[in-house]
Amino acid sequence: MALMNENYLKLPGSYLFSEIARRINSFKKENPDADIIRLGIGDVTKPLPPAVVEAMKQAVDEMSRPETFRGYGPEQGYEFLSQRIIEHDFKPRGVELELDEVFISDGSKNDTANFQELFGLNNILAVTDPVYPVYVDSNVMAGRTGNFNDKGQFENIVYLPCTEENGMKPDLPRTEVDMIYLCYPNNPTGMTLSKEELKKWVDYARENRSIILFDAAYESYIREEGVPHSIFEIEGAREVAVEFRSFSKTAGFTGTRCAYTIVPRDVKVYDSKGESHSLNSLWLRRQTTKFNGVSYPVQAAAAAVFTPEGQKQVKELINYYMENASIIKNGLEKAGYKVFGGVNAPYIWLKTPDNMGSWEFFDQLMKKAHIVGTPGAGFGASGEGYFRLTAFGTRENTERAIERIKTRM
Ligand SMILES: *Cc1c(COP(=O)(O)O)cnc(C)c1O
Repeated sequence: MALMNENYLKLPGSYLFSEIARRINSFKKENPDADIIRLGIGDVTKPLPPAVVEAMKQAVDEMSRPETFRGYGPEQGYEFLSQRIIEHDFKPRGVELELDEVFISDGSKNDTANFQELFGLNNILAVTDPVYPVYVDSNVMAGRTGNFNDKGQFENIVYLPCTEENGMKPDLPRTEVDMIYLCYPNNPTGMTLSKEELKKWVDYARENRSIILFDAAYESYIREEGVPHSIFEIEGAREVAVEFRSFSKTAGFTGTRCAYTIVPRDVKVYDSKGESHSLNSLWLRRQTTKFNGVSYPVQAAAAAVFTPEGQKQVKELINYYMENASIIKNGLEKAGYKVFGGVNAPYIWLKTPDNMGSWEFFDQLMKKAHIVGTPGAGFGASGEGYFRLTAFGTRENTERAIERIKTRM
């Protein structure tokens, strides 16, 4: 008899998006002509930049000729891509990296989910609340947590509430934690941390020999000067942090799949005797065993993001989405809403009026304005009373949505 991994039984099921779909479908049945605008999606809508498409086509042609065909590539990715990542994304910010500290992958979702397997099951993890659910669920599956309780939280996880009281920024944990997941710019709140705020976390991790798992998937959406783009801009972070980056939101790769993870050689984890081991070596061992690399045409396409034309086109994409973000943010503020994010991230996190529950607000927004967003409660207990709108829609729909909120809500 094949026994199951019973940790999976602790998961409450993907309630959020199935519940959203259920409510939309039943609304549509009663209102077949309603023109619904979706501002709930966390996916890009614009096509790949032309420079990327051109590079991918050329790489496919190379694969068709015996002289230039490529089979298995290096599991950690091709040097031509790692080199450009280092030169372009890190060197200009004063961060020096070696080639073997960069690991190319097919996505940050999987990297953030897989990385936990390098850690012992007795580690205590800390996550912000609200949170990107992947960090939590992957640790539940591995058996690093207790059961799901009636507060809507897992036992043995330290939740760091991000609320209006602390300006949506997590306070340091009061008890010792070993693995800390931070995502900045944040999904879902759209907030960032300053260098000083991030340094508190790096200092905490150095004092407690914890590891920070830093998700920078939205780094390219940072508009303001002085906001750190990489945790490695913070002194000492090379000893205690890993950083996840992705081409998904930066260059429209959500369906193309390419990301990378930075694991500095200086990061150490400890065995039960207290002896230190290189996290970089562990991740290399893991990837070379369980992963065979990203396809050559996709890596060639990703490298084109760093050419001058690629950079220009990617900036245009991001400007387009960030223009939507400011339309949403300004429009909501004019309509009297309290709003977070939308300045350095494609997410707008609004406080529901009159302390309305986030599902109730979902229903009202759908029924009165025919707009779909994401209830904050779906991202954690502290998300109750908040609501997420995204800037990934078309300009036309974004403008129409704000007009409807002003006139119908
Ligand atoms: C979209 C997103 C990612 C990127 O995931 P990919 O697997 O690279 O597409 C990572 N982290 C967060 C928080 C995200 O929202």
